[in-house]
Amino acid sequence: MQGTLTILGSGTSTGVPTLGCQCEVCTSSDPQDQRLRPSVWLSFGGHEVVIDTTPDFRQQALRAGIPALDAVLITHSHADHIMGLDDVRPFNFGRPEPLPVYCNAGTLDDLRRVFRYVFEATYTASAIPRINAQVINAPVSLFGARFEPLPVLHGSLPVLGYRFGNNAYVTDFSTIPEATLKRLRGLDVLILDALRVRPHPTHSNLENSLRLVEQLRPRQAYFTHIAHELPHAATNAKLPAGVALAHDGLRVAIEI
Ligand SMILES: [Zn+2]
Ligand SMILES: [Zn+2]
Repeated sequence: MQGTLTILGSGTSTGVPTLGCQCEVCTSSDPQDQRLRPSVWLSFGGHEVVIDTTPDFRQQALRAGIPALDAVLITHSHADHIMGLDDVRPFNFGRPEPLPVYCNAGTLDDLRRVFRYVFEATYTASAIPRINAQVINAPVSLFGARFEPLPVLHGSLPVLGYRFGNNAYVTDFSTIPEATLKRLRGLDVLILDALRVRPHPTHSNLENSLRLVEQLRPRQAYFTHIAHELPHAATNAKLPAGVALAHDGLRVAIEI
């Protein structure tokens, strides 16, 4: 089925501009140099799914016009990926079923700790998001589309990438295990972490992600989780055909 992928945020954990920074990118007038925290929205067959609920989730949902929410997939529990979870609350209104939230086991433990009030029965239901958080360790069918969790490593932290149709979103990784690489070959659209030029202990950098694109040969690759070291236009001008930095608001037609 036809769907649309929207980049809700293409920035690293601090967002760009970065607080207190006066660098060329942080003070740029190019709107594509402004990056909220990393997340994507998938819209298909009248259903809406987001990957991660960032601290900017409310602003991102308003800006992109997300009309409803049917499921959330979470990559991992770092603050830049989960802190907007409370803001799914209005999407619960008028819907009897809790919102399904999928994540790995470590993330579920962290969600229960960080959002303890959500999982405790002492709060009245209207004041907290109603979610059904569950571990995903095998492909699931959501609203007629297949979603496959793909384990990667962010330093030593297990993180999930997600494949949907012949497309995948893989952020916050430094290592991709062979079994996951196999599931990422020859995709239509592949979105990868590419923090900056310099190496980083827990993130892929531009050079590493370009090497992955060469190896995996997607039809189109986009890089995300971008820090203020990378100016949008100047960096894109140097990237090979079929590879581009993502930017906030980017919409891509996908088959899902
Ligand atoms: Zn992150
Ligand atoms: Zn800066």
